[in-house]
Amino acid sequence: MTRDCIFCKIIDKETSSDVVYENDEIIVIKDANPKTPVHLLIIPKKHISSVNHIEAEDKALMGDLILTAKKIAKEKNLKGYKLLINVGREGGQIIDHIHLHLLSGRPTEIL
Ligand code: AMP
Ligand code: ZN
Repeated sequence: MTRDCIFCKIIDKETSSDVVYENDEIIVIKDANPKTPVHLLIIPKKHISSVNHIEAEDKALMGDLILTAKKIAKEKNLKGYKLLINVGREGGQIIDHIHLHLLSGRPTEIL
């Protein structure tokens, strides 16, 4: 738990959120300000600030984020979707706890 990190607070249930899926390593929540009809955030419970802070020991966890996206997309019968990670302020990252956006519904409006 990293103090003042909104996603760590969500993981620790200090802040409420709409949880779609959770296991020991990962939590998936609905984005509070969805950009597309389906907009989920796939978040590792380990606090990693950004892609720039990933270490070799995080390789499996990063793979699990994508596998989790695939699992949820299948469960929700999504025909197609986009996966997006913003990196740094210049890359559009607002929350400094790494997360994978899963976007579906109107994905061409995003990229
Ligand atoms: P990023 O710009 O990649 O850091 O994305 C941060 C995302 O988190 C944005 O899409 C926000 O709408 C979303 N967000 C911010 N606060 C919350 C929250 N408390 N619960 C759910 N989503 C949030
Ligand atoms: Zn955090």
